[in-house]
Amino acid sequence: MRALSLTGERTIAVQDKPEPEPGPGELLIRLRASAICGSDLHLYRRAPQAYIDRAITPGHEGSGDVVAVGEGVTGWAPGDRAVVYFRRTCWECDDCRSGNNQVCAVIRPGYGFGADGSDAELMTADASASMRLPDGLSAREGSILACQGGTAYAPLVRLGVGGRDRVAVSGLGPVGLLAAQFALAMGAEVVGIDPVAERRALAESLGASATIDPTAGDVGPALKAIWPRSADKLVEASGATPAHEAIPAVVRPRGTAALVGLGTEPFQTSLNGITRWDINLFGSTIYPQTMWDELCDFVQRKSIDLGAVVSHDLSIEEGSRGFELADEAASGKICFHFD
Ligand SMILES: [Zn+2]
Ligand SMILES: [Zn+2]
Repeated sequence: MRALSLTGERTIAVQDKPEPEPGPGELLIRLRASAICGSDLHLYRRAPQAYIDRAITPGHEGSGDVVAVGEGVTGWAPGDRAVVYFRRTCWECDDCRSGNNQVCAVIRPGYGFGADGSDAELMTADASASMRLPDGLSAREGSILACQGGTAYAPLVRLGVGGRDRVAVSGLGPVGLLAAQFALAMGAEVVGIDPVAERRALAESLGASATIDPTAGDVGPALKAIWPRSADKLVEASGATPAHEAIPAVVRPRGTAALVGLGTEPFQTSLNGITRWDINLFGSTIYPQTMWDELCDFVQRKSIDLGAVVSHDLSIEEGSRGFELADEAASGKICFHFD
């Protein structure tokens, strides 16, 4: 089968690999779509030697059709449509059993990280890490929801976003743009913050009331010119230190900021700003797998334009170009197809 491999720093090759077979408890999935995510780029840029030596297939946003099931699998059959949750959690710890498997600490190597991922014609996945894709959603939409869609949705649920809220979204990459769309569909007003003009234009075309370029001056006063009381809630999806430093100026007194964006720098903001104004802060990592059906239902009922965050649809043969485009970070999401 054709599959991608990382062969060096910022080097991707299309290779012929043996077709995998489903082990006990696993599904064999023929991929229809697999999208690139920011976390794939960390691997692409760092190129860990062990990852290269084992020729691990990248990709953790896969969506496709079940073609075979392994021993002991119940409830899945060939022909079912599946999306893979890349973290392989235990389903036995307190967090898993209480429906919060996103924070399970007993994880095994995740798909696309320590185990072969979805940038391939076929992959195996634990049935327990597989989620059903409803007929109303395309495989491409399944890929968008698999990681980034859920990552955008879960903090909004935790923030309790509704029609009375003014929600700021900082970082208008795919997660931020999805969060903006979801918050709008929940009834909130949205202002987007991002230095890239194209991303701001896209956020406005999707319904944001206004957008702010954080490199053009202080974000706090710019936001107050739009919302005199600042934002009730913030989804921080950039992971950038200046965005963290701006939190006390962006969020109103007693407001809440959800930290979603990943970064390598230590978190830094004004402690006095956070305490003086009773600001709430929380971190958020992907989404609980138990939220999947609700997420799929929400995006269908609200007719969310998930594809708006995709800038390039490529064949898997164009894997190298796809990663180059994603690495430039100026494009939207890159989605590979296999037909
Ligand atoms: Zn991802
Ligand atoms: Zn667990």
